Amino acid sequence: MHIDKFEDAIMNCRFCFMCRHLSPIGNVRFTEVDTPRVRAAMIYGLRTGTNSFDDEDFVAALYRQDLSACCRHHCVNHFDENGLALAVRADVVEAGKAPDAVKRLAAKFSRSSAWKVEGKGDLAWFLDESTASDKSAVAAAKKLFAAAKVSPKVITGGSIGKALKVLGYLPEAKAAAEKFAAFLREEGVKTLVVSNPAAVNALKQDYPGFGVKLPCEVKSLAGFVAQAKLKFAKSAGEVYALADDFIRNYQGCKCHENLLAQLKATCRPFGTNDEESYNCGEGAVVLDRLHPQLVKSLAEYVAARADDPKKDRLVVGSVYAKRALVKYGKLNAVTIEELTASCL
Ligand code: SF4
Repeated sequence: MHIDKFEDAIMNCRFCFMCRHLSPIGNVRFTEVDTPRVRAAMIYGLRTGTNSFDDEDFVAALYRQDLSACCRHHCVNHFDENGLALAVRADVVEAGKAPDAVKRLAAKFSRSSAWKVEGKGDLAWFLDESTASDKSAVAAAKKLFAAAKVSPKVITGGSIGKALKVLGYLPEAKAAAEKFAAFLREEGVKTLVVSNPAAVNALKQDYPGFGVKLPCEVKSLAGFVAQAKLKFAKSAGEVYALADDFIRNYQGCKCHENLLAQLKATCRPFGTNDEESYNCGEGAVVLDRLHPQLVKSLAEYVAARADDPKKDRLVVGSVYAKRALVKYGKLNAVTIEELTASCL
């Protein structure tokens, strides 16, 4: 089973309470089943015969997880509870026990792996569907490319495999990854700038894990802009920068901090600690489609921690997080690219 690679997490997390406060879903449902300890204990039960994928409540809990990777990131021993969560989903799928809503979503993503290109050159911008749905984020990205005096060709289109991997459909995710890598090779892309942190993570970590080689260097848009050392006409002022799930907890990347420093942003502490994820399930990529009510609860939890919900400017890494915080939390959230473009 895929979970066998995560022996340390199964054996240690099942007895540990240390990171339960970093479980966003547990924090809004007030349920221990939504913490790493109880999930690991339930997974251990697969070995002892006291649990099975026939238990629909167990499988539902596995697909409720936010996958922010906060617990792994802050675990003193770095036990990979997040990797375990992804692995057990793959085992659920292989056992043919995925919930119907998950099956339908996976089938949709499997069909959507096709892309279009506009423009010329070997520098490309991957404008994924989530980012493309936000006009303001798209306009900000275009303004930043113009300020950097580059004119990338633009790649748009569907699944590059991230959602499929997160849902546990590994062969399908790998097939999408191979197809996208071949597409980039055919297009002669040497540098790919990517807006969506989930897509950055797919390209930088999932693809090597699948053994899929890319023909190009991958940069997050924030990282690309930070390296471009643009001149800014004004500073960003006071903001609450919320750490991105993929950029901080998966990639361990400092590009957002670098950019905020260039913008001379005054970053104020948000909530009661800087360890939690406030991204409303960004790491789970499609939580808003599977469990919109939960995402609403997550956004309301964030709103309850804002000093002045209408005025405080929250800066996030993804359109996913922005959309949830604005729609459900009624918060003043912008992406880091929008903040950067506003300072030009
Ligand atoms: S990830 Fe670390 S802190 Fe969290 S339950 Fe596992 S061992 Fe404990």
